[in-house]
Amino acid sequence: MSVEFDDILLRQDLDADDIKVLLSAKGPRMEALLRRSLDVKLSHLDNYVHLRGLIEFGNDCEKNCLYCGLRSGNAKVRRYCLSDEEVLSCARLAHEFGYGSVALQAGERSDSEFITRIERLVREIKKIDGGSLGVTLSLGEQQEETYRRWFEAGAHRYLLRIESSDEDLYYKIHPHNDRHSFRRRVDCLEILKRIGYQTGTGVMVGLPFQTLDHLAADLLFFKRMDVAMLGLGPYVPHPDTPLYQFKEIIPSPAERMELTLKMIAVARLMMPEINMVAATANQTIDPQGREKAIAAGANVIMPNLTPGEYRESYFIYPDKACVKDEPDQCGRCLDIRLAAIGHKILYNAWGDSLAFLKKS
Ligand code: SAM
Ligand code: SF4
Repeated sequence: MSVEFDDILLRQDLDADDIKVLLSAKGPRMEALLRRSLDVKLSHLDNYVHLRGLIEFGNDCEKNCLYCGLRSGNAKVRRYCLSDEEVLSCARLAHEFGYGSVALQAGERSDSEFITRIERLVREIKKIDGGSLGVTLSLGEQQEETYRRWFEAGAHRYLLRIESSDEDLYYKIHPHNDRHSFRRRVDCLEILKRIGYQTGTGVMVGLPFQTLDHLAADLLFFKRMDVAMLGLGPYVPHPDTPLYQFKEIIPSPAERMELTLKMIAVARLMMPEINMVAATANQTIDPQGREKAIAAGANVIMPNLTPGEYRESYFIYPDKACVKDEPDQCGRCLDIRLAAIGHKILYNAWGDSLAFLKKS
């Protein structure tokens, strides 16, 4: 191990060159990086993992992102939307299992019926046991007024991945039109922060045309945006999307997994107190993927609470992990899996981002 490499591992303030050295680490160097990021996490956040019961509210989407199975141009997907009662019974399950929080995720819709329903549902979720559930939303780009309405209803965290902080790469993975504006996405992140949400972003790792320079710039973007949360997961090619044609030029699943773990680890070195999600996509390309992400520096898991009959329709990418698991199996399975890597779930707590709490 060179002195220079060891020195980079000890720093929080990294530049693009430092980051690329870390992202290129292999063998013993990669192990040293993952060990260091685990140490950093344990010293700032202890060995707790926070849960968000994931409710995949619906898969109608106005957008046409070139990588995602829910894109409006994909006629093969069976569209669904949960009823209010289905959403609320998922939230009650989350409470019963002691998850402490729910995350409501869906394809992007901006019609007033959708906006009003989400507002009403957030209010109803907040009534469960006197507001004991934290609420994260991941419902895409919206008007400032919409974000405010949902915040006032009780949502306090919002996940909106930038997908790529490089404008050119952004337009290689999205159609180039008003509905998919890179500027608008950055503006939405600024608006969410201004309103007071714990704001999360992130990227997919291993996209076609993505280089280490892009990934280093992404990490610097997250730091500059001073985000409270991050979601980093491998890109998984979906056969019914335009980006699938480039599947031969992307890194292998094992390489995408390694690169994702290194991204998580470097993010943890740079932002020791943020919350970081071990994305389900990790487990999709590696059966141990979620645990590996936790051991690399992530501290949040989102067990799926969506009723079984809809899970296969929320078909973002193929072979999604845990599609067939019953919700009550999930917590127990996670307890065991996490104990095996020296971590434990913090039940019945919101598990807010320490980085955010300290600022506010
Ligand atoms: N519509 C909302 C949005 O785009 O922010 C939330 C739902 S969207 C399905 C959630 C995330 O799924 C996206 O931010 C994207 O990064 C991820 N995703 C979509 N297609 C993917 C793929 N093929 N592989 C890995 N992740 C994917
Ligand atoms: Fe819609 Fe989100 Fe998929 Fe884009 S990533 S097509 S906005 S669900």
